Parts: sequence; structure tokens; C-alpha cells
Amino acid sequence: MHRFLAFLFLILTPIGLEGRSPNFVVIFCDDLGYGDLGCFGNPTIKTPNLDRMAAQGQKWTQFYVADPVCTPSRAALLTGRYPIRNGMTSAKRVVLFPDSAGGLPASENTIAEILKQKHYATAAIGKWHLGHLPQYLPMKQGFDSYYGIPYSNDMDKVQGSPNYRQNAVDPNYYPDINDYNVPLLENDKVIERPADQNTITERCTERAVEYIKDNRDQPFFLYLAHSLPHIPLFVSEPFRGRSLRGLYGDVLEEIDWGVGRILETIRNEGIEKDTIVVFTTDNGPWLAFKTHGGSAGPLRAGKGTTFEGGQRVPTIFWGPGRVKPGVVTGMGSTLDLLPTFAALAGAKLPARRKLDGYDLSRVLSGEAESPRRTFYYWARAELHAVRSGPWKLHVKQREPINYGREAPMDGPELYHLETDISEAYDVADTHPDIVKRLMKMLDAHKADTEDSLPDQLAARIK
Ligand code: MG
Repeated sequence: MHRFLAFLFLILTPIGLEGRSPNFVVIFCDDLGYGDLGCFGNPTIKTPNLDRMAAQGQKWTQFYVADPVCTPSRAALLTGRYPIRNGMTSAKRVVLFPDSAGGLPASENTIAEILKQKHYATAAIGKWHLGHLPQYLPMKQGFDSYYGIPYSNDMDKVQGSPNYRQNAVDPNYYPDINDYNVPLLENDKVIERPADQNTITERCTERAVEYIKDNRDQPFFLYLAHSLPHIPLFVSEPFRGRSLRGLYGDVLEEIDWGVGRILETIRNEGIEKDTIVVFTTDNGPWLAFKTHGGSAGPLRAGKGTTFEGGQRVPTIFWGPGRVKPGVVTGMGSTLDLLPTFAALAGAKLPARRKLDGYDLSRVLSGEAESPRRTFYYWARAELHAVRSGPWKLHVKQREPINYGREAPMDGPELYHLETDISEAYDVADTHPDIVKRLMKMLDAHKADTEDSLPDQLAARIK
């Protein structure tokens, strides 16, 4: 009898494991650079928890966000579609502001809505930035609950408060929370204003920990979007003045502590074999803010630009038993999270919707190489560049620091990203055939996106 039970256990356990839909936790930072984590080469910022997460999971070295600023990048992650399709991009206003009337259209299908087909519990914690009016908040996009600052932490700036950019010369300049009158929301109610940003990372982390404990017995999707290290930088007392890197390093070390808390909770609750955690960020470092902005490491430029520093982001997938450890050099994108999670959960993709993501589930399990071979770079509703394999062709650029300005170009520029990670050597002149091929790809993509534009125009950033 015992042997029979043991046999039953043996055959049922793997079926049970595979049959359980995995939990998904996305930890999404704001303006964190490619070179800001220990495991991505930072020499002074200490990120032991993220380093361990990378060692136990997959470190992706060529992973992209679909746009180099907050609002469109977030819209793309949650919908698996370029912002030109989901309406969250504009030539006039880069992102949504507190006086904006728009938000992510209700007609868009988010990861949370897709997973609801499979009865997932869903929560959004942290920065939203896809519309702060009631009709655009997370609960209207498939999330059961929300807690966080609904837009960027530097908005609602109090008139006459200090000029941050000037003060950012001092790596330890500490701003005042009262200079930014941003609200903290619980679902659709303001519960604090100004939000005490000194403790925002800690409080969002603890909310996430409680959420995981409360939902351990059912599949869940937790979207934890920290509002930092976007300026103004704030950190809780125990982390202040610790890092050799100054305040920016302190902020990163608190985020790293939070990642440790979350992974530890997942293990303590015994759900580590059924949970996939993704760590990444919405765009590259905000270089205009000097030492208060991050570092793109070896990549050119930063936030707001379609150079690699604006859109290639440090990314880690973790999931003991589901994610095969290693370094992945194939391409990936936040656009791919929706189809990947849908595949792993056995959920259907939205019908009659053009998606721009690829299912990466077989890369996570170590069974296949990344299916993504192409990536298009958009900024302010304009197509700037395309990557095909190792080649990247730029037809438009923005200033590397002051990205409000379009940068003049003599003609298309071609870079081989595998041999020239810093986009330093334009080889367009010596490779006319490749320039021609990539130009055709840009034209085709433009034609493919134009037809989805008209019905979204009304909902665009305004
Ligand atoms: Mg950002």
C-alpha cells in the first residue's frame, strides 16, 4: 500500500507542478540605468539580493523597453503593444501629467485582464502613470487593488521650491517631501498628500510582502512599480548615507533590500517553484540630473533617447524550477511579458488585436533561443530606429542629455551592436545593402502601425 501511494505521489507530483498556473511578480523600477546593478557591472552600488537573483535565475543582457519614457513604456509592458497602437504616446507631451485628461483606453487588454480569464488575483502597487482619473486607474484595467503614487514623483511641484537640477551637483543633496505635493492612493482614494516619499519604497515593499502571504493559495499577478530611483530621490532612515555612490546608491540599496524581502517571502511561503519574478525598469537613466541620475554603463545616452542607454534595461527572470539559470544574450522586451505570461498561464491572447510581443516561455525553461530577432525604437510617436539581429539603423535621434531636442543627423546611421555596444562607429557607408534592408523594415513597420492609429487618437496623451 505504501509503495502504491509513493508511486501515485511520484506520478502526480510533476503533473501537479506543471498543472499549477504560475504566480507572476513584476518588479519595475523607474529611470534605473543599465549600469546601476552589481550584477550588471556597477562597481560601488551594492545589490547583493539582485546579484543572487541573477545568479539563481536568468540575466538578460539585451532586453528592451518599448519607449524611453515612463507612460508609453508602462503602457507597452501591460498591453504587449507599441504605444503607437495603444494610444499612450504623443509628439506634444512626452508623458501624462496631473492636468492630463487621458489615460490607457479601456479597450486595451492588460496582462491583469488576460490573467483574469484564469481567475488570477491581481494587484498594482507603486507608480501607475497610465491616467490618474478614476476611469483610468488600475481597477479599470483588471487589477483588484491599487496602492501608490499615480504619476511621477516629481510632479505637483510646489511653486518656489528649490531647483533640483542645480542641487543635483551634490550627490548627497536631500530634497524635501513637501516640495512635491503628490498624492498616495489606496484604490481610488487619496490617503496621504503629500505622500511621505521617504518611506515609499519600504511601504510598497511591505504591501507586496503582505499581498504574497495573503494570496499564496491561488495564482496571482503582482505588479510592483517602484516610483524610484526617478528624481527627487528619497530613502528611508536606515539606508541614508550608506552608499559610496551617494543618495542614488542609497535608493538602489533600499530597492535591493526590498527584492530580498520579496524573494525571501516567496520561499518562506513555499511557493518558489510556482512563482516567476521579473526585475527590470521603465527606461534608462535621467542623465540631466547628474549624480542623482543613474548610469547606462557602456551604453550610449540615456532616458528619452532611442540610443541603447534609453531603452536597453537590466533585466532578471527568477523562478526556481521554472526558469533555467544562465545569461541570456538573445533579445527580449517588456512587450514580451504579456504573451509569455499568457502562455504559461494557459490564457488566450486578445482577439483582433495586433500584438508586438513574443512568447519567451521556452527561453525561460532553457528549451529554446529567444524568438525575438527584431526590435523597433519609438519616441514621441515617431519611429527612430530598428534592430535586426546585431544591426541597428537610426533614422532619427534626440539629444543625448537634453532629450527635448531632436538631434541633427547627416543621414541614416548603422551600428553593429554586438561588436559596438556603445554605438560609437557608424558603418552605414560601408554596408549599403544592410541599410537598404533595414530601411525597408522601417517602412513596413510604419505602414503596419499606421492602420491601428485612427481609433486610438481620441485617447492619446493630452
Ligand atoms: Mg521613467
